[in-house]
Amino acid sequence: MSDTRELALEIVQRLQTAGHQALLAGGCVRDLLLGIEPDDYDVATSARPEQVQELFGRRRTLAIGAAFGVIAVLGADRRRQVEVATFRTDGGYSDGRRPDSVTFTDARNDALRRDFTINGLFQDPQTGTIHDFVDGRRDLEERVIRAIGDPHQRIDEDKLRMLRAVRFTARFGFELDGATRAAVSAHAAEIRLVSGERIGAEMRKMLEHRARAAAASLLEECGLLREVVEDAELLTANQANWRTRLKWMAGLGDRATFPVAATMLLGPVIKDHGVQPLMDRWKLATAEAAAIRWLEEHWFTLLRANSLPWSAIQPLLVHPEGRGALQIALAAAGPDQAGVRLCQQRLAWPAERLNPAVLINGESLKCLGLAPGPDFGRILEAVRRAQLDGEIGSEAEAIQVARSLAATG
Ligand code: ATP
Ligand code: MG
Repeated sequence: MSDTRELALEIVQRLQTAGHQALLAGGCVRDLLLGIEPDDYDVATSARPEQVQELFGRRRTLAIGAAFGVIAVLGADRRRQVEVATFRTDGGYSDGRRPDSVTFTDARNDALRRDFTINGLFQDPQTGTIHDFVDGRRDLEERVIRAIGDPHQRIDEDKLRMLRAVRFTARFGFELDGATRAAVSAHAAEIRLVSGERIGAEMRKMLEHRARAAAASLLEECGLLREVVEDAELLTANQANWRTRLKWMAGLGDRATFPVAATMLLGPVIKDHGVQPLMDRWKLATAEAAAIRWLEEHWFTLLRANSLPWSAIQPLLVHPEGRGALQIALAAAGPDQAGVRLCQQRLAWPAERLNPAVLINGESLKCLGLAPGPDFGRILEAVRRAQLDGEIGSEAEAIQVARSLAATG
């Protein structure tokens, strides 16, 4: 049993012993029923936030969302935490994002405020009893993502639920219920009302997951792709190319970083528009945007690794995104492509062979009596190329090359 699970059980037990109703809630119940180890555990309770705080003491609680009735309870070691939320219903949603107010209520109404039936389940971990007010168990068995209540109204309340619907459908390989799907398609353009941060966070989760191709495909079918990606027609206008791109994305396998998967999805868009529109719409971190830009610019070169000098390939492979670039090349061209094969062999080289220490540096050039200036970089790069391509192998040879380069200007 995971440490966090143990903590959740301890919390439920203490709340129940103190006379409150307390249940595991939402995503963790869903995952347990699917036989998946939950990432985090949430507890829902009839206890009020101040009662939770009193029961576990100030030292073990953080009032992270007290206004919404959410208290984080920490483990005795203060490393793990479980969110304990008072049963609540959400008030109006005037901004389409966050409830204006919450009212404390019972388990049933707390289930009804949740987004999809499979996310609306409770479980008493002591007895294993499931509390199902929304037919969530049936939909888990039938493998369906279905909005709780009227899908139009639920999307109206919080437009982000459209992206969540796609993400859960793809992640579990479920069907998106017809009425929910029709509502997503009808409201797709309204996703633009959601903040870039929330859109970016959802896209990041979708693309990092191995079901990323299914997610991208469903985004397109529901009309969401063109709302979250600038000029998405560049990707989908040619359906054969789009299907190839989806196949490549699936080929990235279990482990791909967000920049790698995003590059695979968005290559042609980035080529045309750069990464700025993405940074705006998904509120990407500067480092993520830089990684995507680099990957898009360089992965293709690896396919020609066998016909280019090693000095043109080596800097790409030792770049922090180098393995990601090769992952893209591999997904696109397969393991038998000559460039991919060469890169894989080279990456297996020991570090000192793959990326040998430089023979000379700027200091060495100064010792030769050269004045520091723009030429330094050019000379050092040329010396490095000669070293990587095996034309020179010693410091003396490097100095000789540097001298003649300095003389020719
Ligand atoms: P994940 O594994 O991605 O964390 P999750 O279902 O746990 O999936 P969370 O975002 O952690 O998702 O939310 C926990 C629970 O809170 C959900 O299972 C759902 O019941 C409820 N919930 C979360 N976001 C929303 C939302 N936008 N609208 C309605 N209910 C929501
Ligand atoms: Mg969760």
